[in-house]
Amino acid sequence: MTQSATPITVARGDGVGPEIMQACLRILEAGGARLAPEFIELGEAVWRQGHSSGMTREGWESLRRTGVFYKAPVATPQGGGVKSINVTIRKSLGLFANVRPCTAYAPFVPTRHPSMDLVIIRENEEDLYAGIEHRQTQDVVQCLKLVTRPGCERIARYAFEFARSQGRKRVTCMTKDNIMKLTDGLFRQVFEEVGQDYPDIAQDHMIIDIGAARIADSPEAFDVILAPNLYGDIISDIAAQVAGSVGLAPSANIGARCAMFEAVHGSAPDIAGQDVANPSGLLLAGLMMLNHVGQGEAAARIHNAWLCALEDGLGTPDMKGTGEPLGTRAFTASVISRMGRSPHSLKPVSARRTPPAPISNHAPAPRAEKTTVGVDLFIDWRGDVDTLAARLKTLEQGPLGLQMITNRGVKVWPEGLPETNCVDHWRCRFMNGGSSIPLKDIAALTVRAAEAGLEFIKTENLCAFDGQPGFSLGQGQ
Ligand code: NAD
Repeated sequence: MTQSATPITVARGDGVGPEIMQACLRILEAGGARLAPEFIELGEAVWRQGHSSGMTREGWESLRRTGVFYKAPVATPQGGGVKSINVTIRKSLGLFANVRPCTAYAPFVPTRHPSMDLVIIRENEEDLYAGIEHRQTQDVVQCLKLVTRPGCERIARYAFEFARSQGRKRVTCMTKDNIMKLTDGLFRQVFEEVGQDYPDIAQDHMIIDIGAARIADSPEAFDVILAPNLYGDIISDIAAQVAGSVGLAPSANIGARCAMFEAVHGSAPDIAGQDVANPSGLLLAGLMMLNHVGQGEAAARIHNAWLCALEDGLGTPDMKGTGEPLGTRAFTASVISRMGRSPHSLKPVSARRTPPAPISNHAPAPRAEKTTVGVDLFIDWRGDVDTLAARLKTLEQGPLGLQMITNRGVKVWPEGLPETNCVDHWRCRFMNGGSSIPLKDIAALTVRAAEAGLEFIKTENLCAFDGQPGFSLGQGQ
């Protein structure tokens, strides 16, 4: 019985997008993929029609109907008022896991790391990419870094399930938890908790800076790497580059109900319409899509044909193959003509097991006993710290006292150093003598500050969870 075609949503994108998408759909069809594409508009044309998200209502409907999005690169117009369509799609559709394999194809694509074959799994929805930013004073802007326990658990579990389903042996988590003890600390802690359910997978942790250096220097030492959003974004470009070419790198964005598959590179407007763009990144993303929809055999057949073309020295100019460089169309034809063949020196691909279905979290962690024990009052102030402290002392009431003032996280009162550079943004910590504080007392403190002419920008409540402080201490204490 022939399996019916899988409906997918396809966007041809901008720049080189239409030519490489056409090439990839031709190759996928020639390799026996059974796909029923619904084409939608996305990107520049849609922005020009006034849709600030870059997507029409029909586009969203198609995506939600098919649950599978094959997307060519789109241009993001520079300047305000236009959101990144990628970030919008990922967050709107709950695509929490960004999966980026980075494989070397040496000697056919030159690289110093011929045995490199790693996969980066990047958390896709949280961290600094929540996009919550504020300008708070003349001198200071801030961006909120949000990290959640369910978000960490979902991505950690996905990374382990991915490793297990693909026969990979190790997951390495990378964070900066030596500095960001609460946010990155939670990411690492949940990774280690979830890891206990996967004793068959080796697991370790690296600080992101040395981790990134090691990826650049000895990427063959890694298997699966798990990272929060921003670090994952950066290390996946490093890894793609050292594998040989960013132009070859695919990416999958996986959610519980939808998934999006695309090349890592952008719309390459400098070479659009010249028949020189490399379709490989988008093609390899298409193969991840076929595996995702259960068409692993077609994916393997096409992958092997593409590897054969590489072995024959064929490729677009950016691939620096040994043969005469081919245009997009000629390279496409060369892959199609090799369908059914297996590579000799590169490792042939066998029908991969389907990657894990997105998993839901286990039971939520037991609720901790939460008490509010103080407040950080952030003040916009252009004077010296001793005058500020004297003004703040007049706000004290009962046990609620001024405990410290920090500037950019460094303690400057009491006993600050004159060398510390200060800006007009002061965190003024009031504690309630160690015991809990009613929220109305915090509200009353802000009223007293306003009445005293102190311009507070925001407050952050200081909470303890099962008696453990849920807030950072000032550096220099
Ligand atoms: P880019 O990836 O488009 O181009 C960088 C360089 O790589 C260029 O020299 C380009 O010619 C080359 N290149 C890229 N893809 C290639 C391919 N398939 N074959 C051969 N050479 C290729 O990055 P950019 O110039 O910084 O961005 C251009 C536009 O793409 C911007 O509007 C950006 O916002 C957008 N962009 C989109 C995505 C996406 O849709 N996923 C990702 C990144 C950038």
